[in-house]
Amino acid sequence: MKKSFYFLAVLLLCVQCVVNNRKPEFQKLDEWTKVWKEGQNTYFGYPVNQKSALHDFYEWYVNTGMDMINLNNAGDPMTDNPWKMSSQAFEREVIEFFAPLYGFDSDSVWGIVTHSGTDGNNHGIYFGANSLYNRTGKKPVVYVSDEAHYSNMRLCDLQNLDVKLVKSDSMGRMIPEELEKVLDTKRPALLVYAMGSTFKGAIDDQEALNAVLDRHPEVAVYRHVDAALFGGYLPFTEHKRMVNCKDMRYESIAISGHKFFGIDSPSGLFLCTRETYDNQNNFNVTYLNGNMKMINCSRDAVQPLKFWWLIQTVGYDNWSLQANRLLDCTEYLKQQLDSIGWPCWKNEYSNTVFFKRPSAEICSEYVLALGYDEHFGGELAHVVVMQHVTKDKIDKFVKALNP
Ligand SMILES: *Cc1c(COP(=O)(O)O)cnc(C)c1O
Repeated sequence: MKKSFYFLAVLLLCVQCVVNNRKPEFQKLDEWTKVWKEGQNTYFGYPVNQKSALHDFYEWYVNTGMDMINLNNAGDPMTDNPWKMSSQAFEREVIEFFAPLYGFDSDSVWGIVTHSGTDGNNHGIYFGANSLYNRTGKKPVVYVSDEAHYSNMRLCDLQNLDVKLVKSDSMGRMIPEELEKVLDTKRPALLVYAMGSTFKGAIDDQEALNAVLDRHPEVAVYRHVDAALFGGYLPFTEHKRMVNCKDMRYESIAISGHKFFGIDSPSGLFLCTRETYDNQNNFNVTYLNGNMKMINCSRDAVQPLKFWWLIQTVGYDNWSLQANRLLDCTEYLKQQLDSIGWPCWKNEYSNTVFFKRPSAEICSEYVLALGYDEHFGGELAHVVVMQHVTKDKIDKFVKALNP
């Protein structure tokens, strides 16, 4: 009996392999897919949108045979003659769609679709340091809060820049008085504002920090905003002023594409003022028929197409609905945790709730990100409310905490 069952299973597997024309080794790929798909439902701890809407895109991509062609966007998409053998014309349309959402005028913006939020921060820090140096002849000091995403510290290390970590308050916001204390008035200042600190979801108070800088007009300033997560949804809410470059007076901003926007793999947006771009070091590359000011040579040509596709198929109105639903569900999660007396906290404008760390089983099932802070009783965890974190899933989660 057992033997025949085994035989049948092997036979079925072989039939499946023949049908798919694949080696049996490929079975582990299918198993891996299953793990991924099941885990997706309770993926609560990290800020990615698990409801990617690109199925039609992939159909189009395969049906047109684009999957059999090498695509590459090396070069500048914001020229009047984007390279024909690239998707730069679409990339430019993507930048022009997003530019006004962050307060940039279409005739004075420069931007690219990046490989990630980190890639955008790399450009912001690099462009900032160069434009300050080219304006003043001095290398800047970078100021970033001690709760900002680690990529900023890593990138300053990589770019060999002097950094001053500015203390943040217990909720995770850079303290303006601390900035004033450590500000080196003899050198230019490169500010990296955290728009969504990693664990607590804090937004640096840009206006209060700018007021400190205004008291020192002798210091040349460049502001880069690390808005990988919050920069996705805030432009679609009543709080959009906070990501507006004119209101907040920043020069560049980085946003991830795989977080709010629902691109299915790492990607992002980098936007800066045209003046910043014009203040960069030139690398005229005859071979590419252009001036290469951006960091990477080869750039992904498919991600701009996905962005472009989502602009047409999801678009402003749906993103607005999603953004407001995220904030609504975040409030709901906070209320539900409050109602069972589970200690929890949330910053204003944030889709992140942090709370007393539950059991290891729950942390593992819900893929919770962990933190530690004595101010809040020690061991903590957080949930980032993204599109797939719906109210009924929140109910289940809260019930698991309080069975
Ligand atoms: C996610 C995140 C990053 C890193 O972005 P990637 O797209 O993962 O490289 C940087 N800063 C903040 C505030 C983030 O939320």
